[in-house]
This record gives sequence, C-alpha cells and structure tokens, in this order.
Amino acid sequence: MRIAVLALQGAFLEHEKMLRELGVDCFEVRQLQDWQQKKDGLIIPGGESTTQGKLLRDLGLLAPVREAVESGLPVFGTCAGLILLAHDVEGNSPSAPVPPRLGTMAMTAARNAYGRQLGSFHTEAFFKGAKCNVPMTFIRAPYIMKTAGNVEVLASVDSRIVAARQGNQLVTAFHPELDADTHVHEYFLKMIKNR
Ligand code: GLN
Repeated sequence: MRIAVLALQGAFLEHEKMLRELGVDCFEVRQLQDWQQKKDGLIIPGGESTTQGKLLRDLGLLAPVREAVESGLPVFGTCAGLILLAHDVEGNSPSAPVPPRLGTMAMTAARNAYGRQLGSFHTEAFFKGAKCNVPMTFIRAPYIMKTAGNVEVLASVDSRIVAARQGNQLVTAFHPELDADTHVHEYFLKMIKNR
C-alpha cells in the first residue's frame, strides 16, 4: 500500500510519520508530476485551507485530485483538509473571492466557527470508526454544520460533528496525526483495504 500525502502547506510531516509508524509507505505530492505516481489513498493535512486551495488550483492539481476522489480514491482530510473536501463552506471572508476547493463531500463546513481562541483545544470523545474514545486536538478548527446524502457521522463533540465519512471520503475536524493514538489512521487504512 502506498499513500499520497498532499505536501503543499500545513501538517503533512506528522501524517507521514504516523503512516511510517503503522508500516505504510507514503510519498509527498508537491506538484502535478508527483500526483502521477501510483497510489492507494490520499491524505489532505491541516493547515490553511485558503492557501492550500489556491496552490492546488495554481499547480493544476485541483481537477485531477477531484476526479480521482470522485472515481473512488480513498481520501482522508484533517481540519483544513475537511474544509477543502466540503461541498459548502460557511465563514469565508465575504469581501474576498471564494477560495478554490475540491467540494466532493456532501456537507457544510463552518470555518473558524469556534472563534480564534476557542477553536484550539484538546479533548477525548467516542469515535464510531474504532468503537472507542480517541484523543482529539483541535487547532482553529472547523466543524460540520450539516450533512446530506449518505454521509455517516463518526464523532461529535458538544453536539457538533467533528468526524464523518461518505463512501471513500473520511474527514476529521481534529488532528489525529498530532496525538500518539493511531485509531483514526488505522480506520482510514481499513477503508483502503476494504475498497
Ligand atoms: N482554520 C484553518 C482554515 O480555515 C484550518 C485549521 C487547521 O487546519 N488546523 O483553513
């Protein structure tokens, strides 16, 4: 198994480290040429979704990545990655043009909706994908305001959805790559194996 990790900006190194700990091979996607390699899944890391969206567009990656996800390539988006996958986003600056994104998952993400300070916290909550509690680190986090279609809610914190899955797409508003617990990554690897 070989996983592509989008490495344009943000916390991609931590995902790579976790994958290696789990014995899984990965490679960084920094340009279109990297994307051509054979891959079994894609991780879109946390960071800054506006920056990542613009880079995806400017590097010519937006359309091919969207096409791959729509054709069933398993994808795991954390935090900014969740925003990039969301079909709709609330909380973008009303005066700026709407930042480019993949928009493949049937949900509305609320961006920076906790407020600057409250968006960063650590907790533990039930993750349905592993049937146990997992640590959750939130950093200026989004949450999922609304889901549609066959989106399955996998975790909520204070009645806000913070993890969900729709077919081949998995998202978390928190950063499992920043904690030692590997349950969420293992769940993603299972999604790939069961494909
Ligand atoms: N607030 C960031 C954004 O809107 C996401 C934060 C994160 O990925 N840790 O893109």
